[in-house]
Amino acid sequence: MSKSDELSSTEAFMEWLEPRHPGENEFHQAVAGVVAHLIDVVRDNEDYRKHRILQRLTEADRIISFRVVWEDDDGTPQINRGYRVQHSNALGPYKGGLRFDPSVNLSILKFLAFEQLFKNSLTGLNLGAGKGGSDFNPQGRSDAEIMRFCQSFMTELSRHIGQLTDVPAGDIGVGSREIGFLFGQYKRIANQFAGALTGKLVGAGGSQLRTEATGYGAVYFLGSMLEECGETLDGKRVAISGAGNVALHAAERASSLDAVVTTLSNRHGLLHKPDGLSIDDVRHIKTEYPQSRDLEAIARSIDAEWCDDDSPWATECDIAMPSATQNELDADSAKQLIDNGCKFVVEAANMPLTDDATAAFEDAGVLIAPGKAANAGGVAVSGFEMSQNRLGRSWTAERLDCELREIMQAIFARCKQHGHVDGGINYRLGADRAGFERVARAVLSFGYM
Ligand code: GLU
Repeated sequence: MSKSDELSSTEAFMEWLEPRHPGENEFHQAVAGVVAHLIDVVRDNEDYRKHRILQRLTEADRIISFRVVWEDDDGTPQINRGYRVQHSNALGPYKGGLRFDPSVNLSILKFLAFEQLFKNSLTGLNLGAGKGGSDFNPQGRSDAEIMRFCQSFMTELSRHIGQLTDVPAGDIGVGSREIGFLFGQYKRIANQFAGALTGKLVGAGGSQLRTEATGYGAVYFLGSMLEECGETLDGKRVAISGAGNVALHAAERASSLDAVVTTLSNRHGLLHKPDGLSIDDVRHIKTEYPQSRDLEAIARSIDAEWCDDDSPWATECDIAMPSATQNELDADSAKQLIDNGCKFVVEAANMPLTDDATAAFEDAGVLIAPGKAANAGGVAVSGFEMSQNRLGRSWTAERLDCELREIMQAIFARCKQHGHVDGGINYRLGADRAGFERVARAVLSFGYM
């Protein structure tokens, strides 16, 4: 196929891409979604077309894969695989989280790093794109095992990262405990207290509001989207999936703005409180859940219903916020939500909708806040943590909350500006186009590399 044929359609582009990344379904899904939004833009721009910008942006700068051996509490060596996908440093040091989960493989990390490119570009900050992690499962492991795993993982990763090179953070399975162990080992090996990781402990190089930022930012983006439609969060029923950092902080911020947050969930089932979780309920869950991971017992303790194996998407709501993981909401769930009156979807997780679910929502006129924009608050505050580390200063939570609100408003404005279509706004289209324009211009300016 000649190079111009690749841009004749999304299908043609994917025919070029898929054999280069065989069997990597999540990566194919993420790229195809973006290409469908960009192919016209690229075809109409001679520089983009001639210099094959879109093709170049789908290939990571570098992918590192390594063995992680660590000793479990029985004295047996365990073997895991670690990865870092350094996708692009066109806009700044590689930046993106680390995920520790048995599902982790290269397809998932490549899709996440690719999404991060657009997300980080949308923030307007100097952040490149990366993602990494391991197939290690922290659940059920003792603190000592987690520490030994993190130390072994960082012993290898440390040679590839640095405050101006690559700055990892947390993601699923990597919270403050893991970042603490990882940073401790980095600091020891590099013999430098440098901001080579974000999400560090406040008072030990970390930033106020980093933990809350992804969930709070998603609610701020939702607020802008509602305002655009002449609505507010007040009294709106919000169904949230997940019970991790993103879900709990989205619930906290939404309920503090008078939304009625009706659900949280985990892989065992659904916590449902039709009258809404109070702020005190959410704060109680925030304290209890990371320790016990028993959402059923917590549901009973706050007079909520517990439904084994159910998902939030069968409940009645105005707004759905998938906040757990990729492809968690399929077409059947989308149809149920539409039938039950859902009007807005906020992707607080990365790529939480299957392609069929996205199509069902778009056909029904449900507005989607895309993950690349709606969940960018986390990485934005990571960017602020990097700035504070370089300055050697700490900003207050109030200042950071103002900065976060401003950045989410700016991201919303970019999505709106680039998302006009057929008399309406498609925020998914706007996010991809706005994210692409900035990074494409940078890549063009650097020449071939
Ligand atoms: N893992 C988060 C994300 O998906 C945060 C990344 C970061 O702070 O570097 O954007």
